[in-house]
Amino acid sequence: MSIHQTISQLANQCVLCGICIPHCPTYGIFQTENESPRGRISLFKALAEEQLEPTKDLLTALDHCLGCRACEKICPSQVDYAQITRLGRALINAQYPVYKRPLKQKLIEKALITPSVHPFLKLAAKILSPLRSLLSKQSNYAYIGYFSREIVANSSQASPLQAYYPASHARAQIILFKGCSSDLFEQQVLKDTVTLLNACQIDVVIPEQQHCCGAISIRQGDTLAIQSFSRENIECIESLLQESQAVISINNSCSAHLKEYQQLLDIPGADEFSRKSVDAIAFLSQAIKSSNVHFSPLKNNNIGVHIPCSLKNVLDEESLLFELLEHIPGVQLSKLNDKYCCGAAGSYMLQYPDVANHLLDDKIDEISHRQYSTLVSSNIGCSLHFKQGLEKHHATSGRKIEVIHPIRLLARQLER
Ligand code: SF4
Ligand code: SF4
Repeated sequence: MSIHQTISQLANQCVLCGICIPHCPTYGIFQTENESPRGRISLFKALAEEQLEPTKDLLTALDHCLGCRACEKICPSQVDYAQITRLGRALINAQYPVYKRPLKQKLIEKALITPSVHPFLKLAAKILSPLRSLLSKQSNYAYIGYFSREIVANSSQASPLQAYYPASHARAQIILFKGCSSDLFEQQVLKDTVTLLNACQIDVVIPEQQHCCGAISIRQGDTLAIQSFSRENIECIESLLQESQAVISINNSCSAHLKEYQQLLDIPGADEFSRKSVDAIAFLSQAIKSSNVHFSPLKNNNIGVHIPCSLKNVLDEESLLFELLEHIPGVQLSKLNDKYCCGAAGSYMLQYPDVANHLLDDKIDEISHRQYSTLVSSNIGCSLHFKQGLEKHHATSGRKIEVIHPIRLLARQLER
């Protein structure tokens, strides 16, 4: 079956009921059918059936989709929105190259997903970081300043990771999947994950030749990149899979994507890879339960919990995040309103900063109103997005709120 026929067939499962529409953040902002899930499905179908001329406005409405998958989760007809979008974007990429993505964004995305470029990125971040306040005045460049500051802070925090961390009296082994950007932004969380796993008597192996999981290439409609990243990740981990209990990622969106490798690739090992892929939150919440590890109570104990869309709508493991954090005695957690995506959506915040910040503003108001001391988020992109929003808020309110990965919060309270 051709890609055109597959899109058409998948889109035909939509019964046009509109139940998904109030759950769509872009519909909430733009209030037009083209900016809703139902509208986008119809547009992809019309493009696939060549019934519509692809105007710039139409392609922009399709590109505005955050990929939050709230529509897919709520849909009573179980329309496979993710697959329609993935194939639809591939079709646009191949058929309408006139619709180009901005060069600045392409370069940033490419640099983030290419580890061999990371040393240069760190150097550039050192140069750009002092210019942050200047860059923050231009909404199109503000993120470059924030990213630079975070990369510099991350590089100075933790020493490089080793390839193997044995636990004493190990009862299992896991593979830690770093992907492309956790090295740049969450090096300390990777180390904290190792510390907690070792404390649970679990050996940790970190294969060197890892690549981006491929999720970022879905937005670009780059089918070849998605397939080559998936294939290379499977190949580099394959020899360790049998003796390992799981492949773990600290980033919810990577975990969600790794679980979908079996749908993307028809090669040996893809099924087992997906089956063994587990988000670090889900794995640790269970591993800690069956271990003799203890945590001390927090001093600042008013914790806001952000639920990333990938954790809620794809992995469906929101409750495990609370279970994990509740290992801290007496912890007080409250969930941030999760009606809509925060706007980060991978590289979306770089391309559409106005939409991304519009979605973030309500959440920043809520955080401020509830007077949280700390906000936890288990997705790297969301954390960066919240950090820049809260930094602006801090400049006007004087209140500083820490944004932290739940595994970092837990590791800091580990009794050693
Ligand atoms: S995607 Fe699902 S919920 Fe949305 S209009 Fe179609 S059938 Fe209804
Ligand atoms: S994935 Fe999110 S932004 Fe895209 S159509 Fe669905 S609900 Fe709307």
